Parts: sequence; C-alpha cells; structure tokens
Amino acid sequence: MPELPEVETIARGLAKRVTGDVIDSVWLGSKPEPLKSPAPAIVGTLESARIAGVRRVGKHIVFDLQNGGRAHSTASPGSAAQGRRRTPDVRKSKTLADKSVRPTQDVAQWVVHLGMTGRMLVCKPGDPVEKHTHAIARLSSGRELRFVDPRRFGRLSVAHGFQAAGSEPLDVQLDRFVSLFRGRKTPIKSALLNQKLLSGVGNIYADESLFRAGVRPRRRAASLTREDLRRLYLAVQEVLKEAIALGGSSISDYVGADGEAGFFQLQHRVYGREGEPCLVCKTSIKRIVIAGRSSHYCPKCQK
Ligand SMILES: [Zn+2]
Repeated sequence: MPELPEVETIARGLAKRVTGDVIDSVWLGSKPEPLKSPAPAIVGTLESARIAGVRRVGKHIVFDLQNGGRAHSTASPGSAAQGRRRTPDVRKSKTLADKSVRPTQDVAQWVVHLGMTGRMLVCKPGDPVEKHTHAIARLSSGRELRFVDPRRFGRLSVAHGFQAAGSEPLDVQLDRFVSLFRGRKTPIKSALLNQKLLSGVGNIYADESLFRAGVRPRRRAASLTREDLRRLYLAVQEVLKEAIALGGSSISDYVGADGEAGFFQLQHRVYGREGEPCLVCKTSIKRIVIAGRSSHYCPKCQK
C-alpha cells in the first residue's frame, strides 16, 4: 500500500506533468466501488476544469481545479439566485455579490486515494487501456490521466475545500503534536496510526519512527514525556523526509504508463527485520501485534 512518502512522490510527479492542463472530458467505468462521489458530480466538476496544481494531503492526491465544472457552474448560480429572491433589495448588490462569490465557487478539488493497488497514470491516447481502468480524464494536451486499480480499494471523489481529518505530519508544530497524544490510553503505535490525529503515517514509518525515537510501540501514549514526544516528533519528520528524498529520484517510475516499477524503499532499521540483529546494539529485533498490525522494535534500544 502506498504510504505518505510514495503519495507525496506521486503527487509531485503528477504536478510536474499535468499542472496547467485542462480536462476536456471524463470517462468513468461501471464499477461503483472506486466512486466516492456520485458519477455525475465527478464528471461535472472535472470537465473543462484547469488543473491548477497537484498536491498531497495525508495519503490523498489532490488535484486543484479552476474554472471547471458544467455541473457546478450551472448549479451554483441557480442556488445563489434562489437565495437572493428571499431578500428584498438584493438587486442593487447583485453585481457585487456575483464578483465576491465566484472565486470560491470556481475552485474545487479532485481527490484520489490509491487504496492498496491504485495507480494514476499519465498516458498517450494510443496506449492500451489496462484492465481495471476505472476512470480516464482526457486532457487538452492530448494526454490522458488514467486511474487503474485491480483491488478497488482506491477512491475518487470531488470536493470543495478538501481537508484531511488529522494534522499533517510534516507541517504540524511540536506543541500541537504533543497535545495530540496527551491523555491517550492507547499504545503510542496505535495513536500514530490513528488518521484522525496524524494524517498519513502508516505501519512501516510508525515502526521506524518509534525506533529512532527510542520508544517502544506498546507504551501508552499518555506515558510519554514531552521529551519522548519531542524525539518522536523529530523522528517522524526525519523518516518521512528521508523516504521522500529517496523517492524523488525515481518519480517517473510511479506515474509512467508502464506503472509497474517498484517503490523505492527506505533502509528499514526494524520493520520486517524480526529475529535479525539491531543495527545499533545487535539485540534481536522483536515483532509483536498491536491492534492487528505487526510492530517491530529493539527491546534494548526502545524503552
Ligand atoms: Zn538495539
């Protein structure tokens, strides 16, 4: 499953390739699972929209759209007009209101979650359409953005003012980070994976961060001192930034039409190394299961 660094890499790769392009038309497949918003809303929002940028929010890829949307350009003025009729002297302020309302109405987001096996490909129109292609956005440059997902855990939706549920791990301030875990009785590992607290930290990066911070995954979040949390805060950012830096060199592998190239891997210090010697102290790495997820740690280096 792509984790935050992979999604960041993919979003950056897509931003380089499709920013400024315009979505001419959209085709959606017949499978309902990938569509988190109704099909007409997705088509209506995407068609004729300009892609102003592509960014990562949590583990979502977000396409910022401008001036788009047959559906929302016809729906919004209509509802605004209805609102106006209720107040008597709106005629005077009509022009002003229209000007002030339009900029927010014209900004929307296309939100893509890759799930387990989702991929977002930039293709030439002649490229064979892969099996399990659920969406194709045809761009005015002649290329196509295709969403392919064999296992169908990925999700496509449209939004206005999309925000992740939790704090962004690379932007959050230390004080906020500390307050997220205060008083929580769950193991710190579970708290790190709770997407309502931090958005986008997955299993591998949680284990690697806890190792670097010297904190055992099973410890109650509430038992961590401010100093423990400060080390964890720095470790989470360090691990994610390292992984993003590694991914930067292989951007083309993620979004190329072949799409099959493997993800880069951070040199794991604990994750997946059960029974192997700790790289710091040579103690055997342990694996335990917390809330159904494998957790790896060094019993000597982590307290
Ligand atoms: Zn160790």
